[in-house]
Amino acid sequence: MYKTLTLKRGKEESLLRFHPWVFSGALVSMPQPGDDSIEEGDIVRVVASDGRPMGVGHFQIGSIAVRMLAFDDIEITPEFYGDALRRAWQMRKALGLHRPDNTAFRLVHGEGDFLPGLVVDIYGDTAVIQAHSPGMHFAREIIAMQLTQIDGLDIRSVYYKSETTLPYKAHLDAPNGYLIGHADSSVAIENGLKFNIDWLRGQKTGFFVDQRDNRSLLEHYSAGRRVLNMFCYTGGFSVYAMRGGAAKVHSVDSSSKAVALTDANIALNFPGDTRHEAFAEDAFKFLDNTATGDYDLIILDPPAFAKHRSALRNALRGYQKLNAAGIAKVAPGGIVFTFSCSQAVSREQFRLAVFSAAAQTGRRVRILHQLTQPADHPVNIYHPEGEYLKGLVLYVE
Ligand code: SAH
Repeated sequence: MYKTLTLKRGKEESLLRFHPWVFSGALVSMPQPGDDSIEEGDIVRVVASDGRPMGVGHFQIGSIAVRMLAFDDIEITPEFYGDALRRAWQMRKALGLHRPDNTAFRLVHGEGDFLPGLVVDIYGDTAVIQAHSPGMHFAREIIAMQLTQIDGLDIRSVYYKSETTLPYKAHLDAPNGYLIGHADSSVAIENGLKFNIDWLRGQKTGFFVDQRDNRSLLEHYSAGRRVLNMFCYTGGFSVYAMRGGAAKVHSVDSSSKAVALTDANIALNFPGDTRHEAFAEDAFKFLDNTATGDYDLIILDPPAFAKHRSALRNALRGYQKLNAAGIAKVAPGGIVFTFSCSQAVSREQFRLAVFSAAAQTGRRVRILHQLTQPADHPVNIYHPEGEYLKGLVLYVE
């Protein structure tokens, strides 16, 4: 059986409410690095101060000491992962995300799918796995094998990509690479639009599937508008704007690789279409050099400004500055799609930053839509921290 970690008196409350994290401060004693009894990534039993079993989870050194896999005293077998993956798949089937015209979606969203520390994105017949915990890193081969056995999902290759998501202190040797098979094609389809997905070199698992619904909404606002897509990365919003009938689309990213990806995705869907142009430039500088009225629709989807709580203040200032620039420059009667993917920034804080930005410009601004992450990025109701993507669609007079 697994090694046991004991909670301090009263610290079982959150586990009784199925919150999946045990903080190190809740444990009677925290195993130390080099301690030969419990290693990082081990499966441990967690018991209350009176010895009552609370469940099992992956142990890790850090402020989150255990990520719970189950709230019963069970054994974690390959079938455990298989069951959890199949349940995640059942839910995606219910969402209707697996169709010939939509082959990209998230199959596993960590805590949101009761598999803390694990992300799995599907691109056609390739699954890209991202481990955020040593425990999931050690389980990667089992997870890969179980993925190929899900009926109807038809996974032929599994790519592992955790070099940047695993805690570096764990000193895990986790090179990116195929665990199973080798994909021939890396073109995925989202709502009928084609995207080259570069899981080998791209950010995250190669694509931001979390903006799918928001891109669809943008498509409906694009007709006849001059669109500016800031922080374009793979050009997701740009491609939708083109299909929506935009008069022109300008994409901006400070990374020239991202600009090349965007150009390639536009060419894949709209070869030879001269409405699109991409610029490798800093977003703030680009907006500085933009005259008010040059664009009717501006998208602001920056990287997470606050990766940790400590960076919150600066992050909020960053969101305010960016949004003030966007709101100031959009044409009268224009629309701004603005986002924050910082988990540390709450919905209210983000809204306040955008409110301050609007006030700074003195323009009349109304909120048309309040956006969030799509249904394949579910929030475990016992783990509200899982809500991270926030967006507002603004109408600017
Ligand atoms: N909107 C994208 C995802 C954006 S990811 C999508 O729908 O897929 C964030 C992007 O911002 C990255 O590609 C990164 O290169 C870019 N970036 C980061 N800092 C930037 C800056 N100061 N100016 C412009 N782009 C920046």
